[in-house]
Amino acid sequence: MNRIVLKLGAIMMSLILAVLLPLGFVADRILTQFHYNQIQEEIQELSQKYANSITSLNDEEILNMYKNLAYFMNKEIYITDASGKVIASTDIQTDSLSIEEFKQLSEGSPVQKEIEDRATNDSYLVSGYPIMFSDTFQGSFFVLAPVEDAHAPVHKIRDLLFLSAVGAFFLGLGITFFLARRMSNPLLEMEKATREIAKGNLDIRVNTLTNDELGSLSSAINDLAVETNRYRTNRRELFANISHELRTPISYINGYSNVIKNDLFETEEEKQYYLTIIEDETERVMRLINDLFDLAKMEEGKVALQLEAIDLVEVIENAVLKVDLEVVKKGLTLVTEIDRDIPFIKADGNRLNQIFINLLMNAIRYTEKGTIQIKLWCNKNNVYITIEDTGIGIPKEELPFIFERFHRVEKSRSRDLGGTGLGLAIVKNLVEIQQGTISVRSELNKGTKFTLSFPEAE
Ligand code: ADP
Repeated sequence: MNRIVLKLGAIMMSLILAVLLPLGFVADRILTQFHYNQIQEEIQELSQKYANSITSLNDEEILNMYKNLAYFMNKEIYITDASGKVIASTDIQTDSLSIEEFKQLSEGSPVQKEIEDRATNDSYLVSGYPIMFSDTFQGSFFVLAPVEDAHAPVHKIRDLLFLSAVGAFFLGLGITFFLARRMSNPLLEMEKATREIAKGNLDIRVNTLTNDELGSLSSAINDLAVETNRYRTNRRELFANISHELRTPISYINGYSNVIKNDLFETEEEKQYYLTIIEDETERVMRLINDLFDLAKMEEGKVALQLEAIDLVEVIENAVLKVDLEVVKKGLTLVTEIDRDIPFIKADGNRLNQIFINLLMNAIRYTEKGTIQIKLWCNKNNVYITIEDTGIGIPKEELPFIFERFHRVEKSRSRDLGGTGLGLAIVKNLVEIQQGTISVRSELNKGTKFTLSFPEAE
């Protein structure tokens, strides 16, 4: 038996008892009182009727007739004469009247009391009414009803209440079991699932699809499994990518250093050529490691930004200066179209510089001839920057993935051009941690356009 069943059971039972006990008590009191009053009224009416209708107190036959009448009415009676002495009675044995009662009756007022039958010890409710013949007191007529009569219907109701309490108890027990099973079975299933997840079995799912807290807990557990699975796949891919990315440059470095070590070159130029390759590849490994480190910090949210009011015009002009040599080297043209009244934005100057250099270097890297255009403008609360080139473009189906780390459209080309496949992932992260957005539009063999926006500083 699990503990939820016990706890729920105890709560349900206490609730049932808490409702039924006071209810039974109150019902008992009210009903007893009600029947008591009813019987009192009844015997009062009867005693009055009998006292008014009796015609003689000396005629044995008349007295017997009243005794029979009482018998049929299921009541006891006794009749006293003018001195208070009992002259006729059913099987009841009672004391004679007290002085006060006698006084009250002889003055014409009825009497109510409760007595005990001396023979049987049964309690009776008694109502006495004076018998008057032409305004003179002749005696009194008493009608009695057992007090038990007031309790009998109540006993019946009490029995009924008891029966319903027993019924409610078993019903409650049934409902408790049902509810507890409904609650604890999914909980047990969830416990099992979370333990499986903790062990690394991430394909497990919980099947509680109810529309309540249990349902949302189980969907949270499922989400946790999906998310952890995604994280694990991601990490696996990342490691595969990193080792792949490192393997190529390191095998170059290894190969060419062996060549030099074993004097396997013919001319000094050849040696210099191999050394340049070793140098380039070493640089690439360094770049890769730096980029990875940067990205890891960003993804963990651990990049400390030096936020200040930044003039984007200045940042862009600086970035343009830095890439100018590369632009000239490739025989491209770089055009800027800058709206001078640009509001400041709140950002980190160095990080912004990194974003633009990255995007500009990409534009240069993937453009053979033509123009690279930078535009800067603003509307209401945002500042926009576009960097557009007339290069090789990106196929439509690749566009959704180019901000993912190590995603390259054309593997060999990117590598030949010195890319690590991390540039855009870093850019996107940097833009987003500075409250900006970045989007891309591109057409194959026509060109690519990156659009960035940042909120104006408040
Ligand atoms: P990489 O170091 O390979 O350039 P990025 O993350 O910077 O990596 O870019 C991802 C991929 O997106 C690149 O491999 C390239 O195929 C594509 N790409 C990025 N910028 C451009 C661009 N301006 N024109 C064409 N393709 C681009």
